[in-house]
Amino acid sequence: MTDSTKTLCPYCGVGCGLEVSPPAAAGKATNRDSQGNPVWKVRGDKAHPSSQGMVCVKGATIAEAIAKSRLRYPMVRDSLNEEFRQVSWEEALEKIVNRIQTVRLTQGADAICMYGSGQFQTEDYYIAQKLMKGCLGTNNFDANSRLCMSSAVSGYIQSFGADGPPCCYEDLEQTDCAFLIGTNTAECHPIVFNRLNKYCKQNRNVKMVVVDPRYTTTAEAADLHLAIHPGTDIDLLNGIAHLLMRWGCIDLDFIEDCTSNFPAYAEVIQDYTPEMVAQKCGISAADLETAARYWKESKRVLSMWSMGVNQSSEGTAKVRTIINLHLMTGQIGKPGAGPFSLTGQPNAMGGREAGGLAHLLPGYRSVKNPQHRAELEQLWGLPTGSISSETGRNTWEIITGLESGEVGVLWIAATNPAVSMPDLERTKAALLRSPFTIYQDAYYPTETAAYAHVLLPAAQWSEKTGVMTNSERRVTLCSAFRQPPGEAKADWEIFAEVGRRLGFTEQFAFSAATQVYAEFTKVTRDRPCDMSGLSHERLRAEGPQQWPCPESELGKSDRHEKAKRLYTDFKFHTPDGRAKFAAYHSRGLAEPPDPQYPYVLTNGRLYGHWHTLTRTGRIDKIQQMHPNPFIEIHPRDAASLKINNDDWVEVRSRRGKAKFPAKVTKAIAPGTVFVPMHWGALWAEQAEANALTHPESCPDSKQPELKACAVQLIPLSNN
Ligand code: SF4
Repeated sequence: MTDSTKTLCPYCGVGCGLEVSPPAAAGKATNRDSQGNPVWKVRGDKAHPSSQGMVCVKGATIAEAIAKSRLRYPMVRDSLNEEFRQVSWEEALEKIVNRIQTVRLTQGADAICMYGSGQFQTEDYYIAQKLMKGCLGTNNFDANSRLCMSSAVSGYIQSFGADGPPCCYEDLEQTDCAFLIGTNTAECHPIVFNRLNKYCKQNRNVKMVVVDPRYTTTAEAADLHLAIHPGTDIDLLNGIAHLLMRWGCIDLDFIEDCTSNFPAYAEVIQDYTPEMVAQKCGISAADLETAARYWKESKRVLSMWSMGVNQSSEGTAKVRTIINLHLMTGQIGKPGAGPFSLTGQPNAMGGREAGGLAHLLPGYRSVKNPQHRAELEQLWGLPTGSISSETGRNTWEIITGLESGEVGVLWIAATNPAVSMPDLERTKAALLRSPFTIYQDAYYPTETAAYAHVLLPAAQWSEKTGVMTNSERRVTLCSAFRQPPGEAKADWEIFAEVGRRLGFTEQFAFSAATQVYAEFTKVTRDRPCDMSGLSHERLRAEGPQQWPCPESELGKSDRHEKAKRLYTDFKFHTPDGRAKFAAYHSRGLAEPPDPQYPYVLTNGRLYGHWHTLTRTGRIDKIQQMHPNPFIEIHPRDAASLKINNDDWVEVRSRRGKAKFPAKVTKAIAPGTVFVPMHWGALWAEQAEANALTHPESCPDSKQPELKACAVQLIPLSNN
C-alpha cells in the first residue's frame, strides 16, 4: 500500500473522486493530526467524471478524521449504569447471537430491529438485508436515509413506477434554467454547485432560480430568489403550472403520448392564480411570473432539490409536484432537463439499490410484491415464505416500538440517532428503555454510544473495500488503503458472521467484498437498476460507471451514453408505461406557527460540517471554520424581541428547548429562524436542533418534517 489509491469522498451524495497517498514520501516529514497520528494526503481525482478533480473542504480534510477517536475493540456492559469492558469478538458475538435467538423465540423476529446508514457501502447494505429480511424474516431494517431522501424515493416510484434520479451531472452544463428548490447546494453539495455556477457565469443567458426561505450562499448566485414561506412549495409549483397552462406553454404531444392523469392535475392548478399564490407564499406576483417565464423560455429546465423538499410531512407530494412541471413541459429524458434529487449521503443511492428501507428489498423490489419476495427467496436459497410480506418498522416506528416494549433487540450501525432523530427528548427516553442495543460504529465516543449495551468497532472508508453510488447513479469502487485500527471489521463482515452463527452458513459463505458485490449485482439483473455488468474488477479496471449497466450491454459502444439519463425513450416503469401526474393541493406545515409558538424554526447544514460531527467535529480546520452553533433571526423580529447580535436566545417548542447565540441577519425571512443541525450533546450544551423538531411524517414516504416546527424565542441576558 505505497502508491496512491483512487476512492470516493465518504461525505455527501455528490460523490467526488479522491486520490489518497501515504502520509510521507521517502525522506519527507510526516504530517500529523492533533492526536499525533500520521495524516494521509488527499487530492481530487481528475479522472473522476463526477467531480473532475474538485473537492470541497470536507473532502480535502477527510484524512484528518481517519485515526482520531476510533473504537478499536468490542465492548460490553450489562446495564447502562455500568462502564464498558473490553471483550473478544467471540464473547461479543456470542452475546449478540444468544440475545437474537432468545428474542426471536420469545417475542418473534419482528422484535428485532436494525437501523443502518447511507454511510454503508453497498456490500454492507446488501448483507444486512439478507440477514434481516431474508434469514431472520423481519423487514425491520431502516436507515437514516429515511430522514434524508425517502420522499424522493416514493415520489419517483409513484410518478415513474421506479426509483432513480433520471439526470446526470453533465446536465448541469447543458441546461437553460436551473430551478433549485429546498436545497442550499453551494454549502451542502458544493461541487455540484461549482459545476453549475461556473457554467451559469460563462453563459449569462442561463437562468438560476433558487427557492428557499433563507438567502443562502446558493441564493446569492441566483438570477431570482424566491423566499417563500416554509411549507408553501406546492402552492408555488402549482402557481408556475397555472401560468404555463394559461400561456399555452405545455407540451401537449408529450402529455398525450407519455403520461396519465393530466386532467385531474389541470383541474387542481386552475385554483392557483398568481395573486393567491403570491399572497400564500409571501412573494410578489411579478417574481412568480418571472419564475414561470424562465420555465416558458427554457427548452431545458433542470430542477434540483434535497432536504428542504424531502424533509416534509408532504414530501412525496412536493416531489411529485416538481415532477408534474417536467411532465407538463416534456422536460425529461433529454440533455439539460429533468427532476434531479440530490442525495445527502455518500451511498444513499446504494442503499436504495440494495433495498435499505423497511418497505424495500434489494434490486428495487418491494416487500409487498409476492413475486419480488419469491425471486429473492430463490436467489438466497431460502424456503418459500421466509421473507415477510409486512412492511417493517420505519425509523420513527423503531422509537415507538421501544416505547411500547415491542422491540427486544436494537442494532444501530454507522449513524447517530441520539442527535439526528426528531423530538430528541422522546427519542432518548425510548433508547434508554431498549433492553438490548448493539451499536456498531467507527468512532467513540458518540452521543448514541451512551445508550448501548454492546459496542462493535467498525472499519470505515479507507479500511474496507466496497462500492458507493452517487446522486447521478455513478458507482465507484472505494478500495481499502490502510488497515483498520485494533480489531475493527467491515460492517458486512460483522453481519455475515452473525448470520453464520445463527445457522445460515451457506447464505453467508463470503470471504471478500468482491464476492458480496458479485452476488448483489446478480440480484439486480433485469431490474430497473440493472448492474449485472458491474463487478469490483470492472470498476477497478474501467473506473466509475453509471447504471443501468446490464451484462448484455457490455462491449456496446453506446453503453455509457445510454446510462447517462433514464427515460430517454419516454417509456416509464408504470404498468401502462406512462409517467403519472399527481394532483395535490398544499396542506402546509404539520405544525404551523400560532400565537403561543409564533416563529417557524428551520434548520440545515453548514459548508464545512457533516451530519452530527462524528468526523468533522474532530477536524481542526473545520472546527475553526464553524466553531459554534447559532440562530439566525431577521432584524425585524430581533428588534421586536430586543435581541442583538450574540445575545443568547432560548428557543422553545412543544417538545423541548435549546439555546443559541443570535445572528441578526436579513438572510432569514421575518417570522422564520434558522439553526444548524449538526451539534449534539457531546459538542455543545443545550444546542440540539432536534430537541425542538417533531416526528410528523409524510404519509407516503414516512419521512419526518425535520425542516419546520413552531417555536417561541426567549431572549436571555448576555453571557
Ligand atoms: Fe465530498 Fe461532497 Fe465535498 Fe465532494 S462535495 S468533496 S463528495 S463533501
